[in-house]
Amino acid sequence: MRDPLDILKETFGFTAFRGVQSDVVDRVMRGEDTLTVMPTGAGKSLCYQLPAVALDGTTIVISPLIALMEDQVRSASANGIAAAALTSATQDRQAVERALLSGELDLLYVAPERATTERFGRMLEDARISLVAIDEAHCVSEWGHDFRPDYRLLRPLIDHLQAPRLALTATADRRTRADILQQLGIPVDGLIVAGFDRPNIRYHVVPRSGLPTQLKRLAKAQPGPGIVYCPSRAKTEKIAADLREMGRPAAAYHAGMEPHLRSGNQEAFVRSEDMVLAATIAFGMGIDKPDVRFVAHAATPKSIEAYYQETGRAGRDGEPAEAWLFWGAEDFARARQRIETEVEPERRAGERERLNALAAFVEAATCRRAILLRYFGEDPPETCGNCDNCLDPPKTIDVTVVAQKVLSA
Ligand code: ADP
Ligand code: MG
Repeated sequence: MRDPLDILKETFGFTAFRGVQSDVVDRVMRGEDTLTVMPTGAGKSLCYQLPAVALDGTTIVISPLIALMEDQVRSASANGIAAAALTSATQDRQAVERALLSGELDLLYVAPERATTERFGRMLEDARISLVAIDEAHCVSEWGHDFRPDYRLLRPLIDHLQAPRLALTATADRRTRADILQQLGIPVDGLIVAGFDRPNIRYHVVPRSGLPTQLKRLAKAQPGPGIVYCPSRAKTEKIAADLREMGRPAAAYHAGMEPHLRSGNQEAFVRSEDMVLAATIAFGMGIDKPDVRFVAHAATPKSIEAYYQETGRAGRDGEPAEAWLFWGAEDFARARQRIETEVEPERRAGERERLNALAAFVEAATCRRAILLRYFGEDPPETCGNCDNCLDPPKTIDVTVVAQKVLSA
């Protein structure tokens, strides 16, 4: 078998593995079942694409979104990897099936809905499968933020295939991880977690009070490109206009805009060195702008995972960057209301717990980074020296002293 490092260089054009990639690849090549948790952008795809090239047979990749699959097939093919996807958009399904059965494919992407059909199962009987990769594996867990019932039905298929399994996700808290391991039959010692710390991001979390002024002050103090995540389309327009009025280049971005306007604003932002983009969370997926100097949230994001992901778009170049969260009690009231009225009853407990974790984060008087990293299962130092609470510790009332006075009075 070829040396993984040679494949890394020759096929992918990279000089070295990043972080835990080599540990994951080693385990997979030894045939051991693995769950890896790595932040977005850390390079999860390589963890199954490289073994797919190295091992005889085809790697099946379970992936939840057609758009993601097509993107992956394109970039794998560009590297000379034999990759295909079976989706409703696949032109010549028979050609893909023939390639699979004749052993020509390194990688086959398929959605869980299709993977769990009888027809697909029967087809795999006649194929040689080297690895099953389950991407976005948090979808298997009701505790995760994006539960997909079809992921639950995968187990018989992957149990039946005599191939190692590799589950990958960016966003699993401890509980979701334990659930993924159990649901997919991966041993506890098969868990490999990459570091989530983004030491160059400075976190600030402040109550909202006069948001327009708060944002203008931020835009004045903070040079470089920035993103303001807004809770509504109307807010993106309003905030962009406010910022332009004070002389800062700014534009809006949301899914309701004319496509050419939206992509125009996105392109202007990607090129710009000082523009602020006021966007809904529709913005960010697949956008590669390394020099974003700040990310602000005009309202509380949907979860700690979302907060981490969205703030993570700042400072990808490793230079200092800022994350500002402007929160209000009404954000939480609205989120609670949504859970009780719109979420399926069996998922409510999990959602409440996740919302409470977010509330504890915004109200905390201790290191923000430590709370975030603990949430992602790490064991960080008590203080980071680079968040609001570490730099300027909140003056809390010493409860014990107060209590003593009350008791001794
Ligand atoms: P994830 O799925 O974890 O979000 P991707 O697999 O999409 O991340 O990879 C993110 C980017 O990192 C891609 O552009 C990929 O080419 C790049 N990348 C992955 N591994 C390496 C590596 N070892 N060295 C350099 N770049 C890498
Ligand atoms: Mg990925």
